[in-house]
Amino acid sequence: MKFNGKHEDLATITLNGNGNGKHHSNGNGKLNGKSLFYEEAEQMGDEHAFSSIETPMRTDAFLQSDEAKIATIEKHFEQIMETIGLDLTDDSLRGTPHRVAKMFVKEIFHGLNPENKPKMSVFDNKFRYGQMLVEKNITLKSTCEHHFLPIMGKAHVAYVSSGTVIGLSKINRIVDYFARRPQVQERLTVQIVEELKKALQTDDVAVVIDAKHFCVVARGIQDDSSTTITSEFSGVFKTDQKMREEFLTYIGMK
Ligand SMILES: [Zn+2]
Repeated sequence: MKFNGKHEDLATITLNGNGNGKHHSNGNGKLNGKSLFYEEAEQMGDEHAFSSIETPMRTDAFLQSDEAKIATIEKHFEQIMETIGLDLTDDSLRGTPHRVAKMFVKEIFHGLNPENKPKMSVFDNKFRYGQMLVEKNITLKSTCEHHFLPIMGKAHVAYVSSGTVIGLSKINRIVDYFARRPQVQERLTVQIVEELKKALQTDDVAVVIDAKHFCVVARGIQDDSSTTITSEFSGVFKTDQKMREEFLTYIGMK
């Protein structure tokens, strides 16, 4: 993306960025295409809007090896650092492009690749039939797809067993798998519910996520005390208020 030297467009966005959802015209009363794009991008980011439940992926997403991706990202990140004026011959900075590239592919965006999905060994336990199981305070570390800044918080998961159960640590692993992507908290919440529904062969699944977004802490409104809560209730958790309240009581939200 190029700015084409039209820096006044960016200034317009900043000055008019009052977040009221309306578009603004530039000096001649006409919307400039680029200016409109940037303004919409800012709003989409600040409102954390998202477009689909599936993470939007390219069809060629996995044609390259991890090693090839790391090499490409390293090159581009070096350019970003140089553009902001950093001297990469400095001993402290020299290894940063490679460190960042490796961290993207192998750690924080590891969950984009279906090959890294946790293996789900389910087993029958008819004895547990009809009982609610709650796994609360699961550590959640993700990355906001609008700003590429961390999201940190807790996920709380409940399901009512249909007779199929999974190891408890599998729930943590599923949360972690979907969190290790550029994410929007609402989508992450739904993705975890949908995966657990499939694995546990039941509709009776609930997920609540309570997380701090560093794009809210460190930029924009710069609020470091607020957290964002999202929930997705399926099956009995949607239809049966008592079940929902029992879950919320267990996780201390009622
Ligand atoms: Zn963000």
